[in-house]
Amino acid sequence: MKKIGLKPVYLDCHATTQMDQRVLDAMSPYFLEKFGNPHSDNHYFGWEAAEAVNIAREQIAQSIGASANEIVFTSGATEANNLALKGIARLYGKKKNHIVTCVTEHPCVLESMRSLVEEGMRVTYLNVNQDGLIDISKLEQVITKDTLLVSVMAVQNEIGTIQPLSEIGEICHYNKVYFHSDGAQALGRIPIDVKKMNIDMLSITGHKVYGPMGCGALYIGKIPKVKLMPLFSGGGQEKGIRSGTLPTPLCVGFGKACELATDLLAAETISIRKKRDLLLEKLTSELSGVHINGCIKHRVAGNLNLSIDEVDTGTLMASLPDLAFSTGSACSSNSDSSYVLKEIGLSDAEIDSSLRIGLGRFSSDFEINYAGERLIEEVNKIRDSRRSIFINAAE
Ligand SMILES: *Cc1c(COP(=O)(O)O)cnc(C)c1O
Repeated sequence: MKKIGLKPVYLDCHATTQMDQRVLDAMSPYFLEKFGNPHSDNHYFGWEAAEAVNIAREQIAQSIGASANEIVFTSGATEANNLALKGIARLYGKKKNHIVTCVTEHPCVLESMRSLVEEGMRVTYLNVNQDGLIDISKLEQVITKDTLLVSVMAVQNEIGTIQPLSEIGEICHYNKVYFHSDGAQALGRIPIDVKKMNIDMLSITGHKVYGPMGCGALYIGKIPKVKLMPLFSGGGQEKGIRSGTLPTPLCVGFGKACELATDLLAAETISIRKKRDLLLEKLTSELSGVHINGCIKHRVAGNLNLSIDEVDTGTLMASLPDLAFSTGSACSSNSDSSYVLKEIGLSDAEIDSSLRIGLGRFSSDFEINYAGERLIEEVNKIRDSRRSIFINAAE
């Protein structure tokens, strides 16, 4: 690890978010004093923990317009996605073996689909346009009488695109098809109402919403009722859908994070968007050849995904140890090149010069200004040195 004097400016809120102090404060009693097993129903310690878990379940449900009894805790969105997709396919796959998804889904969804194909399911992948959005009329066309499920993510983790959830939900329910959405990047960033949007299953996670890592949930709707085959064998917790002792402190933290998200969403969206737009304005006014990847309109407030002409992101990153941003996604560390940017039509050169910035609750004006100035400075340096190499070669 490179050692640097001051901590870099954090610009990677799609990878994870700093936990909110209020979340930690809510969690801390459940590590030491209130340490009971929430499934111990014989004594006080268990009841105390169970009550805390119930409150958290209520807070989580409220943040997405659900009821507490529709929330199943998981270890995060990866597990929630696996449970939703494999759980439904393994139960109903014999009767209906077709699933529709999208090419820009998170790797945990795409890999789950790959393994379901091995189990005999048929999967249709919807393309996206250069904005990053699926074509609704295309969705209607690919649904058949064998279609069990449509799984389309709410917000894309690299380019921040918001898919038309209500329209997708409407089409699904008209055709009597279940609708699952990976909402990991949506919770706390856009308003979600699972009932109004006709979402039957929604995957969410704590650490993308200023809560703890290692705790997430799957919303499983009651009308129409979704039944799932569990992934784990065990003690039958979470109504048998997800066995394993619930981590009380993490559940409490996730609950508190959701409560904060519900309260802060509207105001936070405005202030974060303002900061994002300021940064973009600064970069585009002082640098030529800055391109936005994906559309700016249907996009979460804190996201910027840019390609900068003549700049290799690896070089840029190496010269900016004081900024913590990313190329593409932290979730697909095995491949350098972003399949998401490829799918929206970028060339290899444009992908090699792309960077992702994710702003959030704790991004300050000072940090945004500093980041803008440093990016401009280093981009200019890289371009100058490139040009001098060309001039020297010509002489
Ligand atoms: C982060 C993320 C996940 C994985 O969530 P974990 O809780 O880290 O397992 C899944 N989908 C999307 C879109 C994400 O951004």
